[in-house]
Amino acid sequence: MADRMSKEQRHHCMASIRSKNTKPEILVRRYLFARGFRYRVNVKCLPGTPDIVLRKYRTVIFINGCFWHGHDNCRYFVLPKTNTEFWQTKIDRNRERDMRKRIHLRFLGWHTIILWECQLKPKEREATLQGLEHTLHQIYLRNHAFAPVRPYCEQEEESIDIMASEE
Ligand SMILES: [Zn+2]
Repeated sequence: MADRMSKEQRHHCMASIRSKNTKPEILVRRYLFARGFRYRVNVKCLPGTPDIVLRKYRTVIFINGCFWHGHDNCRYFVLPKTNTEFWQTKIDRNRERDMRKRIHLRFLGWHTIILWECQLKPKEREATLQGLEHTLHQIYLRNHAFAPVRPYCEQEEESIDIMASEE
């Protein structure tokens, strides 16, 4: 199997997809932690073993490699010139799997956020992480938008008190 990717490169790719503590993941985790978010990592009991799970926000985050997950219009997603069909099929399958995971998670009541590796390169990083934080706050507000607003005033508290003591 000869193609543009050298054996070393491919090995590097495979290694980074398998490793559980890839650098972009750590970047995101560190940022979230510093901003007061609490989360779990590599949660196996959820579809696709999300990289980061923020239960309070009912949100999971996947940090996707641009090549393996087929990031559209991304310069890091370039199919090798040889064995193109093989790679295309492989990436298509990954994309389908990603889509199924997302649907399954939605069904279970989770929001899914995808961060692409290219968005975490030094130039984009700050904007991406700030955007992520903003999105999480939006999600939190949306999740709680329909919670009943309990009326609060002294009068009501007093009357509840009287009712309680009369029983
Ligand atoms: Zn990308």
